Amino acid sequence: MKKIAILGSTGSIGTQTLDIVRAHGDIRVVALSAAGNITLLEQQMREFAPKLVCVYDEAKAKELRERTRDLGIRITAGMEGLLEAAVHPESGMLVTAIVGMLGIRPTIAAMKAGKDIALANKETLVTAGHLIMPLAKACGVKLLPVDSEHSAIFQSLQGAGENRIHNILLTASGGPFLHRTREELKHVSVEDALKHPNWTMGRKITIDSSTMVNKGLEVMEAGWLFDVPADRIQVVVHPQSVIHSAVEYEDGAVIAQLGTPDMHLPIQYALYYPERRPLSGERLDLFQMGQLTFLPPDMEKFRGLALAYTAMKRGGNMPTVYNAANEKAVELFLERRIRYLQITEIIEACMEHVPFAEHPDVDEILATEAAVYEYIKEERLSE
Ligand code: NDP
Repeated sequence: MKKIAILGSTGSIGTQTLDIVRAHGDIRVVALSAAGNITLLEQQMREFAPKLVCVYDEAKAKELRERTRDLGIRITAGMEGLLEAAVHPESGMLVTAIVGMLGIRPTIAAMKAGKDIALANKETLVTAGHLIMPLAKACGVKLLPVDSEHSAIFQSLQGAGENRIHNILLTASGGPFLHRTREELKHVSVEDALKHPNWTMGRKITIDSSTMVNKGLEVMEAGWLFDVPADRIQVVVHPQSVIHSAVEYEDGAVIAQLGTPDMHLPIQYALYYPERRPLSGERLDLFQMGQLTFLPPDMEKFRGLALAYTAMKRGGNMPTVYNAANEKAVELFLERRIRYLQITEIIEACMEHVPFAEHPDVDEILATEAAVYEYIKEERLSE
């Protein structure tokens, strides 16, 4: 029986992973973790009977211990707890469904312990791809993409053999503001930005989709996963989100994966790879779709996407600066402490001012994150 651990089991990806587990009944979940949503975690513990649970928040972990005394399941807390969940001796695969750079250490630890990774936590690859990719190879573990675009690219590469990728066509819905002008974006509210036209996701990634920073992070993620330089990754705005991405080969053939916008498919593909299991839910009906349309991305309006290419080309700790500045800026926006367009202004300011490091190790990556937060605070960019 396949055994897995999930970091971020109460989130959008985490709960959909558990839907797949529930639907098939042949995967055993040995470890779960969340930041603090102990109500849902308790339900998950009662349903899936994991061996270990981690609640990042110490006080909440204590509360959960009291609530679930009858279950006798070990509950840990903090980064130590996350690391323990990531390397649980019984699991063969770690699903990284937490948000942010917090995923770096547990992902590295799991790989070193020989676990395959079902990778949703794109921030880990964006900031530490230069460490993660060679490590995966050295440890002989699989890195299976969960992000729908990267899963689509991965699926389009099945059977490719030694044939090289000529270009990656990375599709983007364009988000809720595709047809708004930059002037109109000045007045976007938190509520406006949280309304994604096609996908239902966690709050942070929903904001990132609206700014197209998410696409920028995905460009960098694709670069690492498929070993393709920035100038061979073309973002294609495709508002229907039916083509989840495509690979163009040397001979001009374009192989794509199509489907409804539903994360269950890429999650399931990663969990059971290379097997394709039945999946309930809506099926793609091309006649109902009628038309599929495509546009080039507007890099002036979506400055965050242009900055991602700059960060990727510069390399070193620049993607970390980009990512950390965005994480903090999105947090400030969600707290209504900055305006919408300040998100990308903050990213740009941090990229210009935070010191550059050519080959950052994990400590330097985390130090860069801290330097970005310090810069934002010192410069009072949130006021
Ligand atoms: P959500 O915000 O929905 O969920 C995040 C999960 O991480 C929750 O379980 C949360 O716990 C947990 N978490 C947050 N902080 C910590 C912490 N300090 N320690 C332990 N657990 C923590 O996020 P998503 O599911 O949307 O996204 C997860 C990752 O997957 C992100 O990297 C995102 O970019 C990526 N992704 C998401 C997609 C989607 O469709 N949602 C698509 C492709 C990629 P709690 O509930 O207690 O706060």
